[in-house]
Amino acid sequence: MSDKAKLATVWLDGCSGCHMSFLDIDERILDVAALADLVYSPLVDLKEFPEMADVTLVEGAVSSEEDYHKIQKVRAHSKILVSLGDCAVTANVPGMRNPFKVEDILNRAYIENAEINQQIPVQVIPPLRKTSVPVHHVVDVDVAVPGCPPSADTIFYVLTELLAGREPDLTGKTRFGI
Ligand code: SF4
Repeated sequence: MSDKAKLATVWLDGCSGCHMSFLDIDERILDVAALADLVYSPLVDLKEFPEMADVTLVEGAVSSEEDYHKIQKVRAHSKILVSLGDCAVTANVPGMRNPFKVEDILNRAYIENAEINQQIPVQVIPPLRKTSVPVHHVVDVDVAVPGCPPSADTIFYVLTELLAGREPDLTGKTRFGI
């Protein structure tokens, strides 16, 4: 059994750009791998969140019932929870639907804009919640990393600081909307 730290990444309502930026750390992934095992992520084929992750990066807002239940489970099983990117920190792009009723959004997507098979799905697609909210509106967050997406350098810095047991100082390293 490895005695390395356990790292997890979670994808809620985001475009995957924050995960792509994580992969942009390129060969420095080997430095991360020397410090931690990736125990859960859309990048690996593990289906169950582990009993406890040391650091969990969360991309995306909380938009669906599935997101809502997932983030609570993830929080309960993560020592340090990181909101990664503007969607997780502010709801950002997913939050743009908040002025509209869910019913109107579904009609627009599945009826008005559909040329064939016009119907609102009731299976497979998780029900939307009334609004898309930042992660910290649902669970406690330990570290917020703005950016759309945060740069690979920023993500690498945050990860290596947290895995070394230090609190990352993000002053001047990232900002909303970049
Ligand atoms: S913060 Fe930007 S890059 Fe990250 S999931 Fe949201 S839209 Fe995509």
